[in-house]
Amino acid sequence: MKKPLLIFCACLLFACGSGDNIELVAIGSDTQPSTALQKASKSKAKNVILFIGDGMGPNQVALAKFATGGPDHRLSFENFPITGIVYNHSADSLYTDSAASATAWATGVKTINRYLAVDAEKKFLPTIPELLSTKGFKSGLVATSSITHATPAAFYAHIDSRYKEKEIAKMLLDSDIDIALGGGQEFFNVTPSADTPFMIYDKKLLDKDLLNSKQQVIGLFAEDGFDRRLGTPTQLEMTQVALNFLENKSQNCAGFFLMSEGSQIDWAGHDNNTQYMLVEFADFDATVQAATDFAIENQDTLILVTADHATGGLVLQRPKGSNVRAQWTTGSHDLSPINIYAYGPGSELFSGVMDNTEIFERILQALDYENLDSSNCSN
Ligand SMILES: [Zn+2]
Repeated sequence: MKKPLLIFCACLLFACGSGDNIELVAIGSDTQPSTALQKASKSKAKNVILFIGDGMGPNQVALAKFATGGPDHRLSFENFPITGIVYNHSADSLYTDSAASATAWATGVKTINRYLAVDAEKKFLPTIPELLSTKGFKSGLVATSSITHATPAAFYAHIDSRYKEKEIAKMLLDSDIDIALGGGQEFFNVTPSADTPFMIYDKKLLDKDLLNSKQQVIGLFAEDGFDRRLGTPTQLEMTQVALNFLENKSQNCAGFFLMSEGSQIDWAGHDNNTQYMLVEFADFDATVQAATDFAIENQDTLILVTADHATGGLVLQRPKGSNVRAQWTTGSHDLSPINIYAYGPGSELFSGVMDNTEIFERILQALDYENLDSSNCSN
């Protein structure tokens, strides 16, 4: 009697499926020619754009590639000249959540799952935007989740729980972030004044000329995370506006830092929903391509594409006919290492096997942070 009861309990805990949880995904045929990008001629970066595909493990990347154009297709970042492998355990477990992983890139320090930009003893850790603001840099954040969600929050909030989103929202209002675009209206309570950022809540106001006339901008386009069916802006639309804003504002400054997250690649993995994952991934890929076009024009811009962890234990099984058999093996994050792709000055620093905390160190190295002069860029 004990055994069936145990199995029943285990299934409640781990959401066992009745079958193998395999979906057939048609192999795509979009094989537009693409050009491999060359290594940068400069060694020092002025601007950094960090792309996070939340939950984007190596097999999410491979499935998106096969589904879009088959084995000869190249995703935007598969043209980057440098790749590396990133391990991502947290301070308290081999399993990481987005908060601990984002804290690792934002501060260079391992922390406990759920903590944001504080160490395992809850001590304050300065983040990349905070460090760079003292050197005359502008910073921006984009996410398709709420802007108070774990990944973007690790760049400005210092708190022992990612779930305290109302407190995190207050921290964003007081932060050094110059432009923040995403969801999360329900966590904010702002009375507009000369001291508060310019707030927008409507996609129609996501206009670069309007926003470029403001000093600091927060755009919230959903109560919480985005629902594409409700006409929320895409990651591409928000990132293009943020990029334009930061380029404009940093003309007389040292440079800029932008983090843009495809937040819901992870949510699709938790749901074991392949089509959802592919739609989120397509927006992410188009966003990276647009930023890459910017970096080709602006050779002082370093672009990094990576993930916080993989989600869903996605396995790509032997095809059946012209379909990949995509099998999800968990509703949780899994432990597989993830990839990093780099293009632009300093990209060679991101080759090889690294811990996620080293992404922080290498970003600062690419900017030659040690030798940057202190400056306060408030144009
Ligand atoms: Zn997750």
